[in-house]
Amino acid sequence: MLNPFFWIKRASPRRWFYLLIVGVVALHLGVGLANTSSAFDLCGLLDGDPGIEIIQLITISDQQEVELGRCFHQHRVDEGLAIYRDRKVTKYVQEIGQRLIPYSELPNFPYTFQVVKDNTINAFASVGGFVYVHTGLLKGVENEAELAAVIAHEIAHIASKHSIEKLRQIIKDKNLEVNSEVEYKTIINLLEDIAFSLPRGRQQEYEADRKGLEMLHRAGYAPSGMTGFLQKLTQKVTTGNTPAMLRTHPETVKRLDTLNEIINKKGWNPNDGDGLDSAIYKQRIQSLPIE
Ligand SMILES: [Zn+2]
Repeated sequence: MLNPFFWIKRASPRRWFYLLIVGVVALHLGVGLANTSSAFDLCGLLDGDPGIEIIQLITISDQQEVELGRCFHQHRVDEGLAIYRDRKVTKYVQEIGQRLIPYSELPNFPYTFQVVKDNTINAFASVGGFVYVHTGLLKGVENEAELAAVIAHEIAHIASKHSIEKLRQIIKDKNLEVNSEVEYKTIINLLEDIAFSLPRGRQQEYEADRKGLEMLHRAGYAPSGMTGFLQKLTQKVTTGNTPAMLRTHPETVKRLDTLNEIINKKGWNPNDGDGLDSAIYKQRIQSLPIE
């Protein structure tokens, strides 16, 4: 296996055990990406012996990135991330994601869309195609086009490999060689910072907006879904009610201006497209708990 995801460093009497892990990883990477449970078990196994799991970021492949995304997911769930299990709502979010994917830069990447039980207005993407949408966001948007706009923005982050890029940047800033081996646990912690507390780079945000808007339009949604949602975020800031999403997404007003410019330049009618019917949208999410 070229460029193995996990690098075994220590020679010890338990060498057979590490070799077993390598075998399991190799097998898992070889048997495809659909079986999530074995990946989670594997993450648990590796977590039990921290310090031996090493990842080399410069050579990370798509499959390895998906493995990392799965382990990050499992780590978050272990730490209390509450996945919302309502089949109807989750399926609805997945359908919107699937409608957008063909127009992303990585249409064959294995994306996973999940709803998180959290009343704050937020959504985030991790590595390996994992997109998370808060129940607070589902209740906070006006219509399907706005929800699709947020999902498209997150897909664009994933397809542009923004989290991996940011990881490399942080590792470089910490004076580690970019191509050096970095401990697996460190990576998981850095991914948490990237997803929840560190502001993303301005360039990355504008890129995700631009690509997300293009995706939204090409998938047949009204472009005003994206501007309408950003407008709403801006209003919440001016009323002193800053949504959690803005901790990682600054410069809302400028982003809004840039998006309107793009729509004008392209000659698109902002309200031309699907997803603007608020009543139909409210019906689709009616099983959400009122809190
Ligand atoms: Zn973003």
